[in-house]
Amino acid sequence: MTFYIHTYGCQMNVRDSDAVAEALVAAGHELTADENGADLVIVNTCSVRAKAEEKALGKLGLLCASKRERPRRIIGVMGCMAQRMGEKVFEKVPTLDFSVGCRAARLIPAVVADIAAGGEGQRWLTTDISDHDVPHGHLNTDLSAFVTVLLGCNRRCSYCIVPDARGPEYSRPAKEIVDEVACLAARGVREVTLLGQSVLNYGRQRDPVFDEPPPEGAAFTEPFPRLLEAVSKVPGIKRIRFTSGHPSGCTEELARAFRDIPQVCPHLHLPVQSGSDRILKSMRRGYTAEQYLAAVERLRAFVPDIAITTDIIVGYPGETEEDFEATRALMRAARFDNSFIFKFSPRPGTPAAQMDDDVSVAEKERRNQVLLADQDDIGIANNALWIGREVEVLAEGPSHRNSARWAGRCGQNKIVIFDPPPGIERGDLVKIEIGRANPQTLFGEVRGALMGSRLLPVGGTMVGLPKM
Ligand code: SAM
Ligand code: SF4
Repeated sequence: MTFYIHTYGCQMNVRDSDAVAEALVAAGHELTADENGADLVIVNTCSVRAKAEEKALGKLGLLCASKRERPRRIIGVMGCMAQRMGEKVFEKVPTLDFSVGCRAARLIPAVVADIAAGGEGQRWLTTDISDHDVPHGHLNTDLSAFVTVLLGCNRRCSYCIVPDARGPEYSRPAKEIVDEVACLAARGVREVTLLGQSVLNYGRQRDPVFDEPPPEGAAFTEPFPRLLEAVSKVPGIKRIRFTSGHPSGCTEELARAFRDIPQVCPHLHLPVQSGSDRILKSMRRGYTAEQYLAAVERLRAFVPDIAITTDIIVGYPGETEEDFEATRALMRAARFDNSFIFKFSPRPGTPAAQMDDDVSVAEKERRNQVLLADQDDIGIANNALWIGREVEVLAEGPSHRNSARWAGRCGQNKIVIFDPPPGIERGDLVKIEIGRANPQTLFGEVRGALMGSRLLPVGGTMVGLPKM
């Protein structure tokens, strides 16, 4: 069969979709880019906000309607909404063929084979929510790949559905992760992003994740910095990123890992959610605004240029104008490089859904717009500081907006646009001098290339470029 996977939500879902795609290809199916023509379509869903679920249900409804003309077409759903709704999803989408819980994705090829062979009836497939036998294959091995290191979440923030949908934390053994990264590197991947909902918790719940304790005098003794060090030793991996952070994991050792492991990129996504201690307490985030800022400063003391990005929720129950102003003040103090702003959405079964959702829709929208404008101001001021400086960019290829120019990301994860010198290839690391900036993007000129054997003319001179 040809198949297509439609993915909503976070990087974790992108990663899971790719692992399922690999398992389906291994079972003899063929991935297609043509959703309308596909014999099998799976929708990978998000539950974090009500809107995300509404979108997924709408999509499933349309896909299932197409079965009237093509009765042999198979439509399935996976991901957080599938886990949260369980069999109830069949009441909403009566002609859906199967629904698979978050930790049961490995069952998909078998259920598809059964349905294709004429097996009757709808299937709700689930395993124990603490099961950790999930697919880890990769189909899409472009320059950059996601690698899940920590499944689930144990934090139980008051507003969040993720712990119910994705289950408790499980840290994969370090060796398994390093082997997976080595396979990716051998297939041409140059950058890995290590994924976990609260990724700095890696190895804290379940030990040991390493076969041996750290040797006497080791530079890194905490599990996550040790994992970064182990991954950095994989030949061919030029860049390591990870997401998402939590202030409790921003230790001095993590700061040293950022500074001393060259492959670790100077960027951390560190969701703050609010700048008001009263709201942070009600959210059960486990830190105050002051502790959050202290974590940011600890990292900046070691890596002054580190980029910090964040998530913020506006209109959480009981959020007053004063609480909101505290969030604005924290944004200014933290000088975020980017912020993702979300309007509070009550999620069934979470403690915050029992509270009075008392900030009006219009006020949530207003606060959202105010923070977006604040972030633009902070972003332009931050990015202006890069003008005249050099950044190292992993060349990704022609820019979407103007194919004559190329785009890539610098270590700080900012998009950098530049004129490609003759002979440049995707995956080359180039030095760019920044000449112009807007809140989201830097623009510059190639000033050289990094390391290696390939010769590339830059500004009339020949410079060495790595053959990676
Ligand atoms: N695990 C990550 C963390 O907390 O660091 C983020 C997980 S969640 C998929 C991504 C973001 O969605 C959160 O950081 C939060 O800002 C937002 N979010 C989660 N639950 C929400 C809710 N009920 N309403 C609005 N936004 C929400
Ligand atoms: Fe949700 Fe909090 Fe876990 Fe993030 S850390 S996934 S917001 S419970």
